[in-house]
Parts: sequence; structure tokens; C-alpha cells
Amino acid sequence: MKVLVVGGGGREHAICWKLAQSPKVGELYCAPGNSGIAQIAQCVDIAAEDIDGICTFASENSIDLAVIGPEVPLAMGIVDELESKGVKVFGPNRKCSQLEASKSFTKSFLERHNIPTAGYKEFTDKDELLNAVGIYGYPMVIKADGLAAGKGVVIAENEVDARMAIEEMMGQKVFGAAGDKVVVEEFLTGIEASMLCFVDETSIIPMESAQDYKRIFDGDKGPNTGGMGTYSPSLVFTPQLEKQIKEQILEPTLKGFQDDGLDFKGVLFIGLMISDDGPKVIEFNNRFGDPETQSVLPRLDSDLLDIFMAVTENKLADVNIKWKKEKAVCVVAASGGYPGSYEKNKVIGGLDKVDEDVIVFHAGTSKKDTSELGCADENKEGCKGRSHMATVTSGGRVLGVTALGTTHEEAKAKAYDNIRRIRFEGMQYRKDIGIVNSEK
Ligand code: ATP
Repeated sequence: MKVLVVGGGGREHAICWKLAQSPKVGELYCAPGNSGIAQIAQCVDIAAEDIDGICTFASENSIDLAVIGPEVPLAMGIVDELESKGVKVFGPNRKCSQLEASKSFTKSFLERHNIPTAGYKEFTDKDELLNAVGIYGYPMVIKADGLAAGKGVVIAENEVDARMAIEEMMGQKVFGAAGDKVVVEEFLTGIEASMLCFVDETSIIPMESAQDYKRIFDGDKGPNTGGMGTYSPSLVFTPQLEKQIKEQILEPTLKGFQDDGLDFKGVLFIGLMISDDGPKVIEFNNRFGDPETQSVLPRLDSDLLDIFMAVTENKLADVNIKWKKEKAVCVVAASGGYPGSYEKNKVIGGLDKVDEDVIVFHAGTSKKDTSELGCADENKEGCKGRSHMATVTSGGRVLGVTALGTTHEEAKAKAYDNIRRIRFEGMQYRKDIGIVNSEK
């Protein structure tokens, strides 16, 4: 089969890595991909948001299955467009994509179907919201309704901060049209966890769990990031909690999709707060999480293509999804300065020193000729010898190193032993990803 994966981050590298192992995948393409993906798939220079370009490529190359990684093309309706060209697609259509692209859409869905979540109110008028400031007390949870690359949520500790956030979202429009509507929620306390599920029109099947680390610095300090690492399985999910989530969240969600005519096909990522009175939904995302995918898919024992195809044909219930017993730890290496501003084009060294059974998932990497990098300094990383193509940094999160082990500790030790062999100027990574003894 000819398969096209859309996207170019660590998540898409993990998807391509797993698909490449399927004997049924004949040709594997990725648009736009990255320099790690290029080692296992043919990268096509089309941006993930270039819907027309991707549709044309899929038609001209008789793609049998397209898999959509990121949320933006999903919200733009890439699935509807590809399906109208007769291409099978793994990913939700435009209507279902509102579950991530509009927080008010999701909150009303959750409320309508009695799925536990924080109480909320929505506002389209700035003055009305300013008059309601502190409506649920403080901290005040203020969310831009639309997609804001994970930055559209402010937890304001006091009235001054809340007013400032409202002014930025609705007055200065820092998130553009995403802030035309603002959702205010009750503040939930508890332990945060997430669950990835495969979903078709008749089934919702959770994957093995993963725990992510959002803050940039050790000990969960510093600003939020796209994710600095994960481990799988998470220890938060006890069998009792899983049962509660199944009955109170998964089953009513599937029924809600059916009742509302939401023909969801793809991955539903459920952000949860495990509070004293049970699990509550914080958010839905409608695609694989990044970097959760980089610790979850290496533990999948089944053929990912079989699962994707079953979802597109509404036959997910027929697939016996198997997982490895081994645990996984993924540590993300980021550019110096991230999540603030950072420099690109730093030569990455040591990739060839990584153990064969350890996976390096590329996120923000590309290839550059060293002669373009001003490599006059022969002693600089990657500059030795004649001009050649070097792997360089091209994003904030640069790569993720995933190791498997019979215990979390073993996987963690292996991931860290290997990430230490990789170097680039300004490289930073957390030293505390994975289970430590005190967490058990
Ligand atoms: P992401 O970066 O995961 O895409 P997002 O921008 O879609 O985030 P949410 O997941 O809704 O936004 O919220 C981001 C974070 O804010 C959550 O992970 C959680 O830590 C916190 N948060 C959101 N809603 C609440 C709430 N009602 N009570 C307490 N904390 C909350």
C-alpha cells in the first residue's frame, strides 16, 4: 500500500517509524517530514497546511491511506478534502475537529452528555467578561476558544492578572480570531493525566497510558512547553480509575458522538484531571499527542497500519490490539532558550553513537551543507573535514530519545545514557523524566 503521513514533528516520525515496520506498507511518504523521517520515508516538500498541495499529491500518486498528524490541517478540513478525492484518511473530519478547535464546542458537548468536566461560561463581549471577572473565584481559568498552539490558556492567580489576560485575548487579540470567544472555567485540582484512544463510529479503545512533562525545567519548574518528555505506562491509572474513566467518560463520549452525528475516526486525546471526586475532562485533542506518541507507539506490538485501516472502515472492534510489556521513557532535547526565542542551524553531533535499540525521533531537525553554516572552525561540532550535509537544529524541540526497558528505571537509565551522547550548541533537556523511586 501507498501511505502518506502529513506533518513533520516527533509525532509524525514515531508514526512513520511504526508504519515502516508493517509488511503491508509498500511506499511511505511524509509531507513535509524532517531529516529523521527522511531515513525511513520519502519526504515530500509540501507544508502540512497546504491542503490543495497535499490533495494533488495524494491523487497523482494514488495514495491508499493518508494519516494526518497535526491539529491545524485537521481543523482546516483536510480530511473532507482528501475523502472527496477518494483517498482513505485516518483522522477526524472538519466537523469532528471542532472538538479541539473550539473549547466552547467541547464544553457544550461534555455538558450535554453529562460527562464530568469543570463548570464553564463563555463570553464574546470583552466588557461582559470584565464585569464577570472572578466569577468562579481565583485562580481564574481563562481560555481562548480557538487553536492557539497550546498557549491560549491563562490561569490567573488574581484579578489584576485576569484583567490583563482578558485585555490581551479580547482587546489586543494576541491569539487573533481564536480569542473572539473566551471560555471561563472552574479551577480543578488533582493530578493531571492524559489518555489516547483509537476511535471509529462504533468503538473507543484506549491505548497504553503515558505521562507527560510539560514544564521546561526539572521539578516541573519554569514555563510550559509542547512537552519535554514522557514515560509509558503512566502509574496514575489504576484498574479502578480505568473502570471509572470507561464508564463515566469513554462510553458517554462515544454515545455522544453517535447522538450528535459526529462520525469521529482517528485518535482522541483526552486531557484529564483526576480530582478527589473522580476523573474530569479538561480538554479533547483530536490527534496523537506529542511527545506521548514517542513513548506509546514503541510499545505497540500490533501492526499500526491494520489499526488505521480498521478505523477508516469502522472495524476497530475487530482488531486485537497488543502491547509490549516493556516500559518506555522518552526524553526531549530542546534548543537553548526554548520555549522562548532560540537559535537554529546548530549542528547535531553524536547521532551515530546512539545504541541500535534506542530510537531518536526527530522533531525540529533539517539537513544543511556545512559550507553554508560558516564552518570555518574545524574544531566546531560537525565541521571537521570537507563540506558535507550535516543534521542541524530547525525548531524548539529538536529530538526525542526513546528507550525501552523491563522496568521504568531501566528504560530511564538507557534513555539518559544515550541522550548524553548527542550534542548541539545550547542543547537542554530535563534530567527527571521517568519514574523515580519516590514516585512509586
Ligand atoms: P494543550 O497545550 O494541551 O493543547 P490547551 O491550550 O488546549 O492545552 P487546555 O488543555 O484546556 O488547553 O489547558 C492547558 C492546561 O491548563 C491544562 O493542561 C491544565 O494544566 C490547565 N487547566 C486547564 N483547564 C483547567 C481547569 N479547569 N482547572 C485547572 N487547570 C486547568
